Amino acid sequence: MFGLIGHLTSLEHAQLVARDLGYPEYADQGLDFWCMAPPQIVDSITVTSATGQVIHGKYVESCFLPEMLATQRVKSATRKIINAMAHAQKHGIDITALGGFSSIIFENFNLERITRVRDIELDIRRFTTGNTHTAYIICRQIEQASQQLGLDLAKSTVAVCGATGDIGSAVCRWLDARTDIDELLLVARNQTRLQDLQAELGRGKIMALEEALPLADIVVWVASMPKGVEIDPATLKPSCLMIDGGYPKNLATKIQAPGVRVLSGGIVEHSLDIDWKIMNIVNMDTPSRQLFACFAEAMLLEFEQWHLNFSWGRNQITVEKMEQIGRASVKHGFRPLLLPLAAS
Ligand code: NDP
Repeated sequence: MFGLIGHLTSLEHAQLVARDLGYPEYADQGLDFWCMAPPQIVDSITVTSATGQVIHGKYVESCFLPEMLATQRVKSATRKIINAMAHAQKHGIDITALGGFSSIIFENFNLERITRVRDIELDIRRFTTGNTHTAYIICRQIEQASQQLGLDLAKSTVAVCGATGDIGSAVCRWLDARTDIDELLLVARNQTRLQDLQAELGRGKIMALEEALPLADIVVWVASMPKGVEIDPATLKPSCLMIDGGYPKNLATKIQAPGVRVLSGGIVEHSLDIDWKIMNIVNMDTPSRQLFACFAEAMLLEFEQWHLNFSWGRNQITVEKMEQIGRASVKHGFRPLLLPLAAS
């Protein structure tokens, strides 16, 4: 059985969907109340592969909210993730994806040192960040959506915002090894990590966001921002593709400019309906078929019976592992979300 550990994007979002999640008593409550809420299994899932194979899973709501980080409630945030992992393991789930901020919190606060939660000895091999599949899907979105727009990658400048992160660095490795993009712009805050990535790749220009945006034909947003940034479309190239892979979204507002196209990054579409209700709550356009690529990674590991932490640690995702999970993704009927056909 596979598991998905998820969280909502804000306190406002949590209050809106509390009833659907089975927490009617939380609908009018503030952040402190959510800080005390225990993890809960809120959905049972059945997925049928394009091959006909059927698997079952559970969705674990961790009750983490990004405001917990923004307001320094770090202890609550870390407890949410560890407790959700213990909850998944206690329910006999073989492989669980840590969605959204879950894996970032696990890594940033060094939660590997916590090996025991009450009577549960955490077995890290039962968890995956899902970042290898997410990075693979974002790369396929860059390749396929640029084709939809008639953008020639060989003449394109690609800016990766969050380049030194787990997903961002994997995207940079793929772009370098598997595409012929013209220029790669590396955007993040920590200069040492940027220089290390540049040295590893042997290419890429380090730039601040405001310098990179006017030059980019394609912007890949994979920064871990608890709140999105406001972008003035006048600072962008008149025709450009923005792939927003952040959860919550890195772009705070909908960009309204004729030549600027925004695509939800790291989202896959399954070829068959999935029997679940949870994706209604996170506002997917086609909730029966669309999902986060990290969640799909747990499904793929279950389909293939690879019960191991396929994606783990930081900045270790290789192009070969992206290709491996990519083959499983295609085999079982997942494809990257692309721009709507009528508008392309
Ligand atoms: P990491 O924490 O590994 O990396 C985050 C990157 O963002 C780093 O390069 C960091 O560098 C940079 N960053 C953070 N804040 C800013 C800022 N204000 N301006 C510029 N750069 C910034 O994160 P992941 O790679 O694991 O995840 C990235 C995003 O993808 C997250 O939003 C996550 O929720 C989302 N995600 C989506 C999934 C999906 O299925 N669609 C699956 C998993 C994650 P520095 O700190 O130096 O600035």
